[in-house]
Amino acid sequence: MTQVFDLHGKRVWVAGHRGMVGGAIVRRLACEQVQVLTATRQELDLREAAAVRAWLKANRPDVVVLAAAKVGGIAANDSLPADFLYDNLMIETAVIGGAFEAGVSKLLFLGSSCIYPRMAPQPIPEEALLTGPLEPTNEWYAIAKIAGLKLCQAYRRQHGADFISGMPSNLYGPGDNYHPEHSHVPAALIRRMDEARRAHAPSVTVWGTGTPLREFLYVDDAADACVCLLKHYSGEMALNIGSGEEVSIAVFARHVARAVAYQGELKFDASRPDGAPRKLVDVTRLKGLGWSAKTSLDEGLALAYADYRARLKAGAIAA
Ligand code: GDP
Repeated sequence: MTQVFDLHGKRVWVAGHRGMVGGAIVRRLACEQVQVLTATRQELDLREAAAVRAWLKANRPDVVVLAAAKVGGIAANDSLPADFLYDNLMIETAVIGGAFEAGVSKLLFLGSSCIYPRMAPQPIPEEALLTGPLEPTNEWYAIAKIAGLKLCQAYRRQHGADFISGMPSNLYGPGDNYHPEHSHVPAALIRRMDEARRAHAPSVTVWGTGTPLREFLYVDDAADACVCLLKHYSGEMALNIGSGEEVSIAVFARHVARAVAYQGELKFDASRPDGAPRKLVDVTRLKGLGWSAKTSLDEGLALAYADYRARLKAGAIAA
């Protein structure tokens, strides 16, 4: 595959390195000949444009990966709409605008497959963007992410900046957030089933009807796709990043039960929202760059569970 950008010797700022995706990108970049730059939350509030500009001026990255975002599962999105919209817009304008001013030569912005209309054709092609209404449970986050990818497009159109975007499907893996209410479904079920196994609880509750379909991608695979995009992609279109495989939430819950060795019953709570009925992205374009996912769901869940156990043992999982 032809390379459009040479990472060799570059200074790469991973914004959001303490998050699940940013952490995986830092791990992946260890295999490249690059210098990775990071800033902690205490050092730099990414919502503060002036602070971000000053940090960029002092640290002079050649490449920026914007993996920082206010994120959360279906309940967090629905209950914190102002935070999801405001924080994400502020981070995007500060980092993308700041990167342009600082003369950054390549920027990768990360979004999510929830940017697509609720009733988009499946698998969802990139062209489905802005063709219909969004899924209401995550529209705040989706609107912010659409604004971010449009900002990258705008800098490309107006100034020729090599700013690109990638839209991953539902991610899971080491470094996930295990908040009991605000996490995404993989972390929520790993935690709930692990607790149920240890407490010998006869059943575990899974939100919704179990019928929604989701495409799960192991986060280190997503990070590998990001490096592929940095090296091989330069274009306006935000490219989909996915495994190409979907499962129902009910089947997914059984995979988690297997990984955790939980043998109790799964009960579905239909009073909880299902969210989008289906969210499988079309990865034809990414595959065309020579990339495909490597980690099976069972392998990935075993790794995610091992990470959960290690963090629990280290006292790093809040109650
Ligand atoms: P979404 O893809 O934006 O809907 O992200 P989530 O990961 O929050 O939810 C995915 C699906 O899993 C939805 O249909 C949820 O109703 C379902 N689900 C089942 N149990 C849980 C849970 O404990 N937490 C979350 N967040 N979702 C759950």
